Amino acid sequence: MGLRMSETEAINKYVEEIYCCTRCGTCKYIYQVYDPSCPAGVKFRFETFYPSGKIHIARGLIEGKIEWSERIRDIIFACPTCANCTIQCQSRHHAQIVEIIEALRADAVSKGFGPLPNQKAFADSVKKEHNPYKEKHSDRIKWAKNLAIPQKDKAEILYFVGCTSSYRQQSLAQKTVEILNKLGVDYIVSSDEWCCGSPLIRTGQLEQVSQLINHNLDLIKSLGVKTVITSCAGCYRTLKMDYPKYTDKLDGIEFLHITEFLQQFISKKKLKFKKGKEFKVTYHDPCHLGRHSNIYEEPRAVLNAIPGLKLIEMPRNRENAWCCGAGGGVKAGYKEWAVEIASDRIHEAEQINAEILTSACPFCKTNLQDAINETNSNIKFMDIVELLNEVII
Ligand code: SF4
Ligand code: SF4
Repeated sequence: MGLRMSETEAINKYVEEIYCCTRCGTCKYIYQVYDPSCPAGVKFRFETFYPSGKIHIARGLIEGKIEWSERIRDIIFACPTCANCTIQCQSRHHAQIVEIIEALRADAVSKGFGPLPNQKAFADSVKKEHNPYKEKHSDRIKWAKNLAIPQKDKAEILYFVGCTSSYRQQSLAQKTVEILNKLGVDYIVSSDEWCCGSPLIRTGQLEQVSQLINHNLDLIKSLGVKTVITSCAGCYRTLKMDYPKYTDKLDGIEFLHITEFLQQFISKKKLKFKKGKEFKVTYHDPCHLGRHSNIYEEPRAVLNAIPGLKLIEMPRNRENAWCCGAGGGVKAGYKEWAVEIASDRIHEAEQINAEILTSACPFCKTNLQDAINETNSNIKFMDIVELLNEVII
């Protein structure tokens, strides 16, 4: 077999894994509930869109049997990087499937075929304003205008807000600091935080990533921070799992999702709750918190601590959860499809008669709320910090 190996191509790092895929199709279904697992395959109904097809595109490229084209770009970017395939696939390469897709994307960008047109704007905006939303960097902390944020130069705990909660889902940032204030946590928020890099890493636009990481780490160190907490699943995955691939300067810094941080208070019985009536809540596992980071029980521990809250599970939960559809650049690149994926999730939550659908990520909130509006659903969405802040004293 003649392989076209090039040092500069990201997929060449995964040649061994690519040849492990037998096209058995196990990655297409969650067999415990016999429901589909791959939003891309379900939508486009063609083998190439499933994980196996994307892996075979990689194989075709390294064997020189196919050439890069816009059609190939459109297929490899049609994936919210939900990682459901990494759970369902039983072959040796299963944990690397999303890495292979992200490597294909990095190669598409370096060869001038990617990313998708709407995703290109992320990089331009991050370069100019340090966020992907074309918002002014000077407005980054506007969400805190009427809130009591500790004014200090140093603290051991930093709340890393992230771009989506700073500019698009400000309620998550506001409720997080209200919770921290109620708990008497000694923390700091910085107006000079930059994008964590997630939208760029997920769409293969890697040029600025090292610069973002170095800036954020220098900032964290200059503030004397030992623990970084975040209420965004995307930031969490990036800080905790992507940063170590780029730098060895993370020694002594702990990254926690807000639900992990809050669970410590719950286990010490330090949260004081208002009296509440019974209500039924279901929890949507964000892909970047659940499958990517293995955080399933902490959010459930927070919810189960709330008096009157009855936690009911959707058939596809924890590692089998259906994606919200917003990740991996899909919300920007395939807007309507993103809401279709979320609409499936809303239907699943409705079928178990949940009154409130909750999650732990501003991206999930945006897309699930869009789907609620699109489908005229009566279900109410609240992020876990919004829900918790309402019931604690
Ligand atoms: S990715 Fe895994 S489960 Fe899917 S076809 Fe290949 S070997 Fe089978
Ligand atoms: S990450 Fe999700 S959408 Fe992408 S190929 Fe795997 S299962 Fe399909």
